[in-house]
Amino acid sequence: MSEKRFPLSPERLEALIATHPTPFHLYDEQGIRAAVRRMKRAFAWSESFTNYFAVKALPNPHILRILKEEGLGVDCSSLPELVLAERVGFAGEEIMFTSNQTPASEYRKARELGAIINLDDISHIAYLEEQAGLPDLLSFRYNPGPLRAGNAIIGDPKEAKYGLTYDQLFQAYASAKEKGVRRFGLHAMLASNELNVAYFLETARMLFDLVAALSREVGITFSFINMGGGIGIPYRPEQSAFDMETFGQELQALYTQKIVANSLPPLRIVMECGRVITGPHGYLVTTAIHQKETYKRYIGLDACMTNLMRPALYGAYHHITVLGKEDQPANEMYDVVGSLCENFDKFAIDRSLPEITPGDILIIHDTGAHGHAMGFNYNGKLRSAELLLREGGDIQLIRRAETLDDYFCTLDFPGL
Ligand SMILES: *Cc1c(COP(=O)(O)O)cnc(C)c1O
Repeated sequence: MSEKRFPLSPERLEALIATHPTPFHLYDEQGIRAAVRRMKRAFAWSESFTNYFAVKALPNPHILRILKEEGLGVDCSSLPELVLAERVGFAGEEIMFTSNQTPASEYRKARELGAIINLDDISHIAYLEEQAGLPDLLSFRYNPGPLRAGNAIIGDPKEAKYGLTYDQLFQAYASAKEKGVRRFGLHAMLASNELNVAYFLETARMLFDLVAALSREVGITFSFINMGGGIGIPYRPEQSAFDMETFGQELQALYTQKIVANSLPPLRIVMECGRVITGPHGYLVTTAIHQKETYKRYIGLDACMTNLMRPALYGAYHHITVLGKEDQPANEMYDVVGSLCENFDKFAIDRSLPEITPGDILIIHDTGAHGHAMGFNYNGKLRSAELLLREGGDIQLIRRAETLDDYFCTLDFPGL
């Protein structure tokens, strides 16, 4: 079971809305820091363990700064994400660059920052060499294809566009070695929003075995394995959080068995998790502005799928509570919808909720990762503000809401 709490009292939230109109995302610094510390404790046995926070999950420099203070690195996959990381003060191997179909300009920026580059294809060795020069440390992303089943969000590995095949990996490391690369990493990410510890252990086992085989056959030494992101969070109240402690312990046992017992050199273990760090610590706060009864009963919000597209994109569940009605029976059934001219624009379908009337404040939970970040401007919708509840209790505006001027600023047209 996961408790769906909200970190502000009703009075405090109402006062906040008076100065910061809905919709907005609110993040909880204390929760984010606690999530990082829980992960670090679970991996305390591995001195060099790091999580490179996937910037795409919550690309706000105020959040990245908190994560830097907690000792995390960042995982970037585009030029703006690299620039964000740089501005926050991340440098060198604190930055992982895991991209695909990468333009030359982005490789050049990654090289300039000294980031760890993780190649998605064998053809990118020559491309990187030509466009930006090869670094001393290079990593490749593995796609096991038919050797492994994927999960719902990321899909079947052999249908996934990412990574190199098993045979290509051997050629790729040999080629990089021949071209003078000295240190190596190996990456795989095969699951997204996965709550099952066994799945990640299976990935670790696969990577440890591959490290042993590649080290032997190619004659190289691995500096790290990167298990990617993808640790899930309990979006549904009846789900339990990922068991980070068991994961840490079982991974240590595997490491001892596969690396230490085989006399392989010490191997750093890293991940690129975003969701499990910030996901549960974000809330989309929105006001019910309409109710409608036709063939179904609808609650219309001032937020729409441009503020949070996961329900529309993946049919994802996001828990919804109504301010001040948390303890009332959920004996009404609604579709909770936004205002896009697009019938996918629904936060919940046939959801049991307390009776809602226009003016009620709805909290959509678990929006701290892949929430605001996936926002877009379709239908002329403006992106919302982001607020941060600081550890000391203050609330800071960490991104203002977009204005009409922002929306029109790329146009050159009289009167706009
Ligand atoms: C999206 C992504 C992540 C982060 O995934 P989470 O589900 O937020 O943990 C990490 N690495 C890569 C390569 C990704 O594409």
